Amino acid sequence: MNIVHVAAHQDDEAHSLGTLLKYRNQGGHRIHLICTTNGDKGMSFSPEIPLAEAAKIRNREMREVAAALGARYSCLGASDEFLYDTEEMRMKLIDALRECEADLIFTHWPRDYNLDHNTTSTLVFQCSMNSIIASMQSAHPALKVTPKVFYWDVGDGFGFEGTHFVELDEETIREKARIIRLHKSQMEVMRKIGPDFADMAVDRARLTGARVGVPYAEAFRPCLASRRTPLANMLP
Ligand SMILES: [Zn+2]
Repeated sequence: MNIVHVAAHQDDEAHSLGTLLKYRNQGGHRIHLICTTNGDKGMSFSPEIPLAEAAKIRNREMREVAAALGARYSCLGASDEFLYDTEEMRMKLIDALRECEADLIFTHWPRDYNLDHNTTSTLVFQCSMNSIIASMQSAHPALKVTPKVFYWDVGDGFGFEGTHFVELDEETIREKARIIRLHKSQMEVMRKIGPDFADMAVDRARLTGARVGVPYAEAFRPCLASRRTPLANMLP
């Protein structure tokens, strides 16, 4: 399968990284990471760092994450914290999905704590459907089949209730934490406002796992719109 992870920011993959690692370990899949924004506001408490430099750092960190997953990374280049649903962004995402020959997409839950996340989810909802419409021409040919969509777990407070669970073992969770730490700049930002970012992801996976009687898990919900609904067995 061609698995495409569409996130707003470089580090949003923390919610589904264990599942991506399972796909990697299964073999036979191609993993593509797409970020809609360039992450240039990510040095949240270091305004002295120029935005272009911040974008460069986050691009470098994301490429390290992609390398660890054996994935390909591309960025659609919108201004961080100012992503809008525009004709330009839709066409960029449609073409990116076609270039990846997307079978299955993971993305943000539609109602989240950051509008870049919500807009990315909206873009995926529309562009997954549009990716087969040949009259919407882009650099790559239209897909033959509409890609399916899973939403990852946004956490409490947003009406997300996981329905599909992916079990993670000790080794996978350790690898997940190691890869999250490759986002050195974001680890530092998070340290200023809360607990360790990687430890937090491990704790979350432990709580999710406890619900279904395994050491660790990640939770998802399928998109229920016609032609985009995935079968449960598309999860690893
Ligand atoms: Zn984000």
